[in-house]
Amino acid sequence: MKNIAIILAAGQGKRMNSTTKKQFLLIKEKTVLQYSVEAFIRSDIISEIIIVTSADEMEELRREYCNGLTSKPCHVVEGGKERYHSVYHALKTIEECDYVFIHDAARPFITDEILTRSYEAVLKYRACVTGVPSKDTVKIASEDGYVEKTPDRNKVWVIQTPQVFSYSLIRQAYESLISQEEELSQLGITITDDAMVAERFTDVPVKLVEGDYHNIKITTPEDIELAEVFCRSIYGN
Ligand code: C5P
Repeated sequence: MKNIAIILAAGQGKRMNSTTKKQFLLIKEKTVLQYSVEAFIRSDIISEIIIVTSADEMEELRREYCNGLTSKPCHVVEGGKERYHSVYHALKTIEECDYVFIHDAARPFITDEILTRSYEAVLKYRACVTGVPSKDTVKIASEDGYVEKTPDRNKVWVIQTPQVFSYSLIRQAYESLISQEEELSQLGITITDDAMVAERFTDVPVKLVEGDYHNIKITTPEDIELAEVFCRSIYGN
């Protein structure tokens, strides 16, 4: 089996209010991106790695990850304006493969157990996403800031990455998305994850797979505080 990890690190990280983009912030002695990439390098499931980043960081990341120091083929691809453009750029560079593991570089605490669970699921269902049941009650808000609806909490999952798909399935879904991008934006539909693309452009149901409450996305400054605590409890001092 040829399984490729697409690691997304082309975001600007505006919500972090920092001059350093969140994927390059340090937690203990490593960057957020390093933790993510190393998890995929370690995994026996993954044969190849594509890191997606902005134009000005491509050379440095090539030097760091793709100069033969890692045991797996590694490529660096330029990202796009939105997350889904970055994913599409990476998908377009793949000639053939069985499964793709799409992962936010900003989630450094991805584990081997999550990768194994999602691989087992994708072999069976062709499309799966990791997530955790919501601990909080979630409200749908109206545009003017009132509560519009309360979904049944027992049915609410908070979605993480990796999101894992059969390559042919997700490539075709992304081709459809890109060809209908204009119409979707006119309808005010924002694509924020890969499952949305599979839901909208394929008839294959997306299976939910148990992620981990540690598998947070570093987004705002308090996430760094949390990440330091998690890092100590996972790797020791
Ligand atoms: O913005 P958000 O937090 O949803 O980003 C999730 C991941 O996608 C991050 O790791 C970020 O670097 C990546 N991303 C990207 N290209 C973009 C926007 C986000 O690779 N245009």
